[in-house]
Amino acid sequence: MNILIVDHSRVFRTVIEKTVAALGHQPFPTASAEEALEVLGEQHIDLICSALSLPGMNGIALCQQVRARPKSRDVPFILVSSTDDKHLRQEAFEAGVTEIQGKADAKELTARLSRFFTEDREQVSGRVLYIEDSNVAAHVMIKMLHEMTLSVDHFRNADDALAAFEQNNYDLIISDILLEGAISGVGLVQRVRNYISDKRRVPILALSGLDEPTRRIELFKLGVNDYVTKPPIEEEVRARVRNLILSKQLFDQVESQSRQLYNLAMRDQLTGLYNRNSLKEFAPKYFKEADEMDAPLSLLVIDLDNFKKINDTHGHMIGDNVLAAMGDMMKRIVREGDLAARLGGEEFVLILNHCDAEEAMRRAESIRKAISTLHPEGIEITASIGVASRPLGETVNFEDMFKVADRAVYAAKDKGRNQVVALPYA
Ligand code: GH3
Ligand code: MG
Ligand code: MG
Ligand code: MG
Repeated sequence: MNILIVDHSRVFRTVIEKTVAALGHQPFPTASAEEALEVLGEQHIDLICSALSLPGMNGIALCQQVRARPKSRDVPFILVSSTDDKHLRQEAFEAGVTEIQGKADAKELTARLSRFFTEDREQVSGRVLYIEDSNVAAHVMIKMLHEMTLSVDHFRNADDALAAFEQNNYDLIISDILLEGAISGVGLVQRVRNYISDKRRVPILALSGLDEPTRRIELFKLGVNDYVTKPPIEEEVRARVRNLILSKQLFDQVESQSRQLYNLAMRDQLTGLYNRNSLKEFAPKYFKEADEMDAPLSLLVIDLDNFKKINDTHGHMIGDNVLAAMGDMMKRIVREGDLAARLGGEEFVLILNHCDAEEAMRRAESIRKAISTLHPEGIEITASIGVASRPLGETVNFEDMFKVADRAVYAAKDKGRNQVVALPYA
């Protein structure tokens, strides 16, 4: 690798230069950004290691210039600086700096640099399901995959491979297309792609001795992601395997992040219950279903009594803990198919699925009792609960049901709090 070093200090430059050379790379030491840009114009550079403070243009401005040139747009740029100035660091990353490395001592930097060089950028980790009925071909491929540090489950026929596919999670399937046995490689691809779970998205690399365009098109239409002709060229297989696995892993990562974000958006952070957004999103489904099946359905609105006083007496933090304890309690009492949400403040909503008015009264009463004996933070709390139930034979909707239960809460407050009131849906 060709390493461009940019530092005003001759001592520092020499230290890095020696490290780079000792690791078998070619150093290009320069004393200023201007000089560095000159070298960059003449030389192919694989890595830039630059100080932040330089005599003329500084390291960040240099990085901007480097990124502006198509030739060096993607070259890793290590900025050497001990600054912990947040704005400066942000500015550096915005300019395209790959990483910032402290300048505390040269040792640390050289250690980082040597790691940078030795990090094997070819390495991927993952598990491969490999189907090949020729022992000779399999031997070569397995050796190569092992060299790439991949773990390999090899099978000679599609039946056994599909059994393993069902049991395990793979990052890649590599399959010969012409296989002996009841199921061909084409059949295997079809079965994987028709699988019911997310597993069906696993990338598939097909191997075939026949290299005809029509065959290839057929395979791609079936859902193969990539294709290599036999006998495979090692370098090509390596590159394709690596790409397929990396994109799969990237996809998995993005998906898990978006799931986390979704959860974050749908849950109330204090109690872990569903929040107002998710209630609005999920509740109509309960009502539609109940109408369709003419099934009983009830809704409770639970409002803590004199909660403001709890905050005023014990502080907002204790108030939060009380709400969190309420959330834990609600999670304990919900039954499968119910939905518990925190609407905001000290107000909660419970949708009781397949629960008629009588049963809803009983459950509301037991919740009221549970709250009064909860004593979170040693504090006595009570709640007023409003109940509304779907009358059989009628069409109801969430908004109207909620209004009824909310009016019932007010009625319970009026009657002196710590009680359950049910009002008819009309
Ligand atoms: P009532 O019996 O009539 O329901 O009286 P209340 O005090 O419970 O009702 P009010 O609506 O007057 O007050 C609700 C209080 O809840 C006011 C607000 O400060 C508090 N509150 C709302 N959200 C939070 C929260 O996230 N944490 C804490 N600690 N308090 C909250
Ligand atoms: Mg209130
Ligand atoms: Mg209240
Ligand atoms: Mg309230």
